Amino acid sequence: MVFPKQLARVVPFVVLASGLVCAQEPAGAPADLNKPEAQAFIAKAKKAAGTQWAGVEHFLCEEPRGASANDPLVEPTKLFDNLYLLGKDGGEIYAITTSAGIILLGSGGATETETVLLAGMKKLGLDPTQIKIVIVAHGHADHFAGAKYLQDHFGAHVYIAQQDWDLIERPAPAAAEGKKKAAGPPLPKHDMLLEEGKPVVLGDEKIIPVFIPGHTAGSMGMFFEVRDNGKKHMAGIFGGAVLLVRAMSGDRDQYVKSIAHYREMAKKLKVDVQLKDHPLMDGEADKLVKIRARKKGEPNPFLVGQASYGRYLDVMNDCFEAQIAARK
Ligand SMILES: [Zn+2]
Repeated sequence: MVFPKQLARVVPFVVLASGLVCAQEPAGAPADLNKPEAQAFIAKAKKAAGTQWAGVEHFLCEEPRGASANDPLVEPTKLFDNLYLLGKDGGEIYAITTSAGIILLGSGGATETETVLLAGMKKLGLDPTQIKIVIVAHGHADHFAGAKYLQDHFGAHVYIAQQDWDLIERPAPAAAEGKKKAAGPPLPKHDMLLEEGKPVVLGDEKIIPVFIPGHTAGSMGMFFEVRDNGKKHMAGIFGGAVLLVRAMSGDRDQYVKSIAHYREMAKKLKVDVQLKDHPLMDGEADKLVKIRARKKGEPNPFLVGQASYGRYLDVMNDCFEAQIAARK
């Protein structure tokens, strides 16, 4: 979306006051993906993608988009012994079961807590009263707005990076041009801090956060162990996954630095399971069908291996570079 010039400085703040979601990022310069520099990065991304990550390449390089209210629901699905997927196509929620309760990665939007999240958990045989921790990877309403309900009803602790607590708690600026500000999403009460390298521990599980500013100033990636029929693997989620270049921070290069930092950590931790928190851009719907029909001895489609995970990050990086080049 392109704002008229005279509103460009005003509109993003009005939107912030009403609780930004990923889809509402303010537009930057118009993109021209036909520029030779952009095309060179797209070609690089296609090469890295091969057939396995072709969907990711197409989504991130050619047709990136944020979450939409019309995104379809995800069929609640068990992915690993200790990991479940819930939520919507545009904003996925993961439930990690531990010996001391449940950790949620993301809370989903405010209006869907009972109808989508809790209903989905019940379908999977998970007890919502066991939700002890909610980790919010970045401070957009489609990721945090359900958190207050979970605090109020189940006493869950909410973890957000300081920069994104600031983002969601920032007092609304005076209504611009006499417009009344819209009501914001429910804010969780100020709670725990998510910090780079400081594991969030519950029972026998721990989540390792990695600081990846860009999508927001406090975006965090997550690494954690999953088990597939008892066998240990390491999963990674890049918590600002839709790398729309319409940068909130204004520092586009920060995204690229964040991908490099995330990649370094992923390599160190031997990440071999690919997960994400945003639209189903890479044929994940097919993976969900496969995993629900999976028979004993068949591979887990989310288990991609370390080398392939590296190529997935290459595609992310190259597409993002393409998007930057398209706006220069
Ligand atoms: Zn977002």
